[in-house]
Amino acid sequence: MRGGPAAALFALVIGCALAPAQRDDAWVSVDGPLGTIEVRAFQRGFAEQLATQWRRAHERVTDVIAFAPPTPTRVVIGRDASDVATRLAVPLPSWIAGVALKGRATVGLNAASFAKRGSTPASVLRHELCHLAIGVRTRGRSIPRWLEEGICQAVGGRAYLAGTLANAPPLDLDSLIPWRSIADDFPRDARRAALAYEQSFAFVSHLERTGGAALLRSLIDATAEGRSISEAFVASTGRAMVDLERDWIERERRRRRGWLAIAEIVSPLGVAAVLVLFAFRRRRRRDRMLQSAMEAQDASPDPD
Ligand SMILES: [Zn+2]
Repeated sequence: MRGGPAAALFALVIGCALAPAQRDDAWVSVDGPLGTIEVRAFQRGFAEQLATQWRRAHERVTDVIAFAPPTPTRVVIGRDASDVATRLAVPLPSWIAGVALKGRATVGLNAASFAKRGSTPASVLRHELCHLAIGVRTRGRSIPRWLEEGICQAVGGRAYLAGTLANAPPLDLDSLIPWRSIADDFPRDARRAALAYEQSFAFVSHLERTGGAALLRSLIDATAEGRSISEAFVASTGRAMVDLERDWIERERRRRRGWLAIAEIVSPLGVAAVLVLFAFRRRRRRDRMLQSAMEAQDASPDPD
């Protein structure tokens, strides 16, 4: 007969070892101010932190979009992107920090991304709530993806860029991604997606600086009504999109030249400061040597 007391004891030991791990890994629900947060027990701290910041994130999004995200909202915090994908039964790329499912008033957050610099549960939630609020404002109609991602980064934060996509190269103003190619969807590849997020954020931030949230809302409404993005720009600003894009690129170039100029001023000063420091240290060392030579002379018996 197989088994016996030894096997039973072994099973008991294994059972004891596994039981706490299974409990830690179980999904639990935490009540938030505007919905429920589902999280694995061992990451409950994220949910509790989020519950205290949720209302503020909701209000910030509502202020800008002028429509509130739907409530109650279901928030799922998975241990990584594939955990979120399984729980929500949607396919997701491995690099995402979060996802918004507009038709289901649901947000998924990737806890693995929280460890990355600049990415917190609240910043990712704000970004995703912005997508939900845009869905309410447009009544589910789609708008250009780059416009929506740019707005959600400007409103909600740049968790995507601070986290998994932090290694993206800086925006190259001479070879921008054609807006058409990121109007329907973003690349699935992390590096190319990072560029698309960066470019969208930079242009939309420029639009927000020049026209405020009112311009962003006007572009959302015009494109949701079925106007092309070119028509939407003319209707909202009286100017062509290419003109605003040119303004943005020129401003970006001036800003970069400004930084270069500062770097040029700072670097000779920096070199001078290092030379002064070396000279000072050399002089101190020489003084110290002279001092010890004099002390040595003082201590030595007088020559007769
Ligand atoms: Zn987004």
